Amino acid sequence: MAGRLINLYSDTQTRPSKAMRLAMAEAEVGDEQRGEDPSVNRLCEMTAELLGKEAAVFLPSGTMCNQLSIHIHCRPGEEIIAHRSAHILNFEGGGTAAFSGVQVQGLEGPGGRFSVEAARAAIRPKDRYHPQTRMIAVEQTANQGGGAIWPLGDILALGKLARQHALAYHMDGARLLNAVVAAGVPAKDFAAPFDSLWIDLSKGLGCPVGAVLAGSREFIEEAWRLKQRHGGAMRQAGIIAAAGIFALEHNVERLAEDHANARHFAESLRNLPGIWVDVDAVETNIVFFDIAGSELTAETFCAALKDKGVDLGGAGTRIRAVTHLDVTRDDIDAAIAAIREVLNEAKA
Ligand SMILES: *Cc1c(COP(=O)(O)O)cnc(C)c1O
Repeated sequence: MAGRLINLYSDTQTRPSKAMRLAMAEAEVGDEQRGEDPSVNRLCEMTAELLGKEAAVFLPSGTMCNQLSIHIHCRPGEEIIAHRSAHILNFEGGGTAAFSGVQVQGLEGPGGRFSVEAARAAIRPKDRYHPQTRMIAVEQTANQGGGAIWPLGDILALGKLARQHALAYHMDGARLLNAVVAAGVPAKDFAAPFDSLWIDLSKGLGCPVGAVLAGSREFIEEAWRLKQRHGGAMRQAGIIAAAGIFALEHNVERLAEDHANARHFAESLRNLPGIWVDVDAVETNIVFFDIAGSELTAETFCAALKDKGVDLGGAGTRIRAVTHLDVTRDDIDAAIAAIREVLNEAKA
């Protein structure tokens, strides 16, 4: 179909704005690998400060942030406790096993979260039969959990558990700033108990590329060694780091609009026949809904919507919509109208 696609597929689909491109064009640059790119250095300082950590390193992707952290914290044969739906377990090409020889024990729990009791019960006995538990990992927000927020109390309690058992504590903070804005909890407070955590620049913050990993000075030095080893060290990377600086300065508070749009989308969906959605589960910018009550599958539903200019993803009868800075309130209403049409045409 002609015209602009309404892209609810993911918050990775944003295009850099004019103002962001201008900031990139004017970025001061140098040799990042030698620590001489002023824009990269500034982005890392800003992120370390935001998260209350000693240091930070700029990486090409969130996946690399997770994989380097796992490699630093864990030895082959050891185990990570994470949610069954975690990105490290399902969407990183088996990197945890391939690069680090580490396995993940996936815990159950609603909203992509697990309880402190479940984590405690999952810690392996210290004997020669069991893989030895080395790390607890949480996703803030929980992607496959529908953008659910881990409450600060649970974050702190899990941190205490990790310390008691000398486990590393890692946050996949791809959407940490969504949680910060929605919950009104400072990033530093969420970050405090973690040995390592990162934020993605290429999700709701609207940058074309990049993520920033933070931790102690010693941890970041190790991360730098691995970044170099894997070919992730860059040169005049200030061009892309400038987008990150721009995003931290301009695109954080506005995440509240994305959350309001997601909520509006879910509330509008609730009135459509054949669709089931838990509106109260929508805490940030991700909406999962189920179309089992219609004649359609995720495949036929998404294909029909794409013909009408709306991009969504899904599997089985479960559909995911993600709001971001390239989706307006009017786009949400247009997407709802298109969904209504698709449902009516399927019935006819
Ligand atoms: C997107 C995402 C990642 C990976 O980030 P990339 O920058 O795409 O590599 C990791 N964890 C979660 C929860 C994500 O949503």
